[in-house]
Amino acid sequence: MLSASPDDALAPDWLELPSDPNDLVEGVWPASARRDADGELSIGGVGVSELRARFGTPLYVLDEGEARAHAARIKAAFDAAAAAHGTKARVYYAGKAFLSTEVARWVTQEGLRVDVCTRGELETALAAGVKPSRIGYHGNNKKVSELERAVEVGVGAIVLDSAIEIERLGAIAERLGAVQRVLLRVNSGVHAETHDFLATAHEDQKFGTPLEAAPALVERIREIPSLDLRGLHCHIGSQIFGSAGFAESASRIVELHAALREDGELPLLNLGGGFGIAYTRADDPTPIEELATAIVDAVAAECEVRGIPIPALAFEPGRAVIGQAGVTLYEVGTTKDVSLGDRGDRLYVSVDGGMSDNARPALYGSQYSARIASREGTGEPVLVRVVGSHCESGDVVVDHEYLPSDVTPGDLLAVPATGAYCHALASNYNHTPRPAVVAVRDGAARVIVRGETLADLLGRDAGIAAPAEAAPGARTGEGEA
Ligand SMILES: *Cc1c(COP(=O)(O)O)cnc(C)c1O
Repeated sequence: MLSASPDDALAPDWLELPSDPNDLVEGVWPASARRDADGELSIGGVGVSELRARFGTPLYVLDEGEARAHAARIKAAFDAAAAAHGTKARVYYAGKAFLSTEVARWVTQEGLRVDVCTRGELETALAAGVKPSRIGYHGNNKKVSELERAVEVGVGAIVLDSAIEIERLGAIAERLGAVQRVLLRVNSGVHAETHDFLATAHEDQKFGTPLEAAPALVERIREIPSLDLRGLHCHIGSQIFGSAGFAESASRIVELHAALREDGELPLLNLGGGFGIAYTRADDPTPIEELATAIVDAVAAECEVRGIPIPALAFEPGRAVIGQAGVTLYEVGTTKDVSLGDRGDRLYVSVDGGMSDNARPALYGSQYSARIASREGTGEPVLVRVVGSHCESGDVVVDHEYLPSDVTPGDLLAVPATGAYCHALASNYNHTPRPAVVAVRDGAARVIVRGETLADLLGRDAGIAAPAEAAPGARTGEGEA
């Protein structure tokens, strides 16, 4: 039987044919995204043509109001869920999703703390004025120099990941005359990814320590006077939609927490991040209020069974805070109709960025959506694949989308939900300068991370002398006699 449209055979099941291929799907785009009377898209009250004229493309656009609203909503959700059981919640923004001093200030002004996992992230948070006591430090292989810096500035919690790190940090804190607050990362055996979770007794991954190995490590931490154990930590994955995996993990951790409490205080329990967001209209993440309630209820139920008080709780959302605040703007360079014979045609739309500014499709097979931003298209919806400009066939920006058939060179294309793990994972592949990040709010736009220039890129090549250094005798190559 012939399908209604030749495109149908190539479209994945989850991709709906939109009644309007110019629409802006609620929950995927920032709430401020809208089209003006001429059809041009604006974000945070700033039109995309103005953004292109002032800052060029590709361009990361971050909607400040949207980021703040998510931060505040998540904080309120966990506060309320904790208060319902007579305890407190701390919310850390996982800086690895996107970190700049500006964003660190937004989230801390909304009441969040900040998680870091490298020296660079720590210095950025400090430069933003985040109080060291409100910073958490993660990682499975923190360097001695990183731990020293973290202890010196007085970070609020270091999450210990291994037996070796316990001894290493204990010695550093002792040498610096400090008593460092720490958590121990444990591995609940629950690993969650989007819709499903997998629960095993033994998880085969690099982070944390298995549940059954934790008591001996806790005993060791408690013997070291320079370490002050506050509690356990676990993080089960990322882009998780349902609450079942979180609840299962929380129950397992509380069992351990209860046993360890018998030999000393354990006032805190950190359950990590991983709350999912919508990238396309097919994604349906559980509202954060429901997740927060389900997770805290699971902790409370397990504490009641074991007859222990509910500890203070901590959470670490990254993507859920910043993901939906980001929109990437590209310019369309070429389009190409590729015939796949009986299976139909696919329109390839090439833009002036790609896997260097968004590695997630290549790295994880992540799906995104897109819209023509500079105008409304007038053609029928056609199945497209938006691709970048890199020398890789896997350089895909949006794998499957319907766009108006008149999409054409010079159009601005906008890809929503790019606030998390896009700039953070950006590279200079193919000697591509990384784009600027511009914040928009109330009709005003300003650069918060400047774009790289060709000079930035060439300047790292020791064989390309800057004009002022080109004088004879100024060569510094190591191999020169
Ligand atoms: C990555 C990470 C997070 C944040 O994950 P999201 O999916 O962005 O919420 C939180 N905690 C830890 C330990 C992480 O590694």
